[in-house]
Amino acid sequence: MRKLTVALGERSYPILIGEGMLDSADAIAAAVNTPRVAIVTNDVVAPLYLDRLTATLARAGIAYDSVVLPDGEAHKNWQTLNTIFDALLAGHFDRSTTLVALGGGVVGDMAGFAAATYQRGIPFIQIPTTLLSQVDSSVGGKTAINHPLGKNMIGAFHQPQLVLADTAVLNTLPDRELKAGLAEVIKYGLIRDPAFFDWLESHIDKLLGRDPLALAEAIERSCANKSQIVSEDETERGVRALLNLGHTFGHAIEAGMGFGVWLHGEAVGAGMVMAATLSQRQGWLSMQQYERTVALIARAGLPVLGPRLGAARYLELMAHDKKVEAGRLRLVLLRDIGDAEIFSDVPIADIAAAIDACCE
Ligand code: NAD
Ligand code: MG
Repeated sequence: MRKLTVALGERSYPILIGEGMLDSADAIAAAVNTPRVAIVTNDVVAPLYLDRLTATLARAGIAYDSVVLPDGEAHKNWQTLNTIFDALLAGHFDRSTTLVALGGGVVGDMAGFAAATYQRGIPFIQIPTTLLSQVDSSVGGKTAINHPLGKNMIGAFHQPQLVLADTAVLNTLPDRELKAGLAEVIKYGLIRDPAFFDWLESHIDKLLGRDPLALAEAIERSCANKSQIVSEDETERGVRALLNLGHTFGHAIEAGMGFGVWLHGEAVGAGMVMAATLSQRQGWLSMQQYERTVALIARAGLPVLGPRLGAARYLELMAHDKKVEAGRLRLVLLRDIGDAEIFSDVPIADIAAAIDACCE
């Protein structure tokens, strides 16, 4: 088992990573300080892993109930959130309840937001089951649901008590989801960890082959990067924004194609290529580092070209992203592999030209 800590004073918590963590009654018992838990999961993950988790809770002597949500980003909304509250209230769950999120980022974000607001806030733990959720969404305390007018627009910061990542559950994850998770893994190398980027270049094939040791290493190094950023800047006033590399472009792809057509990680893959292209054209990223960046994203099986929506449409969609501040397009760009910076004064014409160069 690998252990990391997200250092946030009295809200600090461990991230435990390893094969078979779902069976670790000790790890869960150590994080649950309430007599009852309510598991929030979905109808894809429940048949695969819910029995294993409930058996672990039973061994730990913790009483449990579960709420099974419909699968998918389309259900990350008020209506589904309300079904969690319905179940908690109908089951007479009081404040001495811990919510347990068992699933990918959608379940984690919704269970987290339910925990942030149910009876003004109850504890929760994250048991992420996708690569993306193990390396990204389960760590850092951002929780949210979508609004018809925007993704993740209603939410709260609420840190979990524990993140428990069982690498073995990734064996059932569809290939496309695994690759989408790798986009966020590569992102950590690009924004702040050049040694990790080097490691990824030599281990990408093992990761695609789901080699358990390689996966555990990639998850640990990703979580180490994310937790350091979160510890420095919990509520995204500064350095945490670097995590948005490729995301403003990617958001335009996701929204422009209709949410769900491109997976988030796929859009981030193409978006990071757009960011790297613009960085290279501005004279910040060397041609050699630019080529390494594109090559690794391609080897991960991610798209390196966006859909041809037209630069004007991209820019319009990018302006609606919530990363926009006071009307200025703030972009995370690269000075080097492992060195990212936020720019808010790149000429619009240059951004448009880079987008056009990166569309199929
Ligand atoms: P997801 O939760 O939709 O999971 C992808 C698919 O895999 C789903 O169909 C899911 O049911 C299925 N699945 C989950 N685990 C599985 C397993 N072990 N085996 C087989 N199938 C499995 O998507 P995701 O990529 O995990 O998360 C995306 C969500 O995370 C988005 O809503 C995004 O906004 C959010 N997110 C949040 C943060 C944050 O900081 N809170 C960061 C990044 C992303
Ligand atoms: Mg992301």
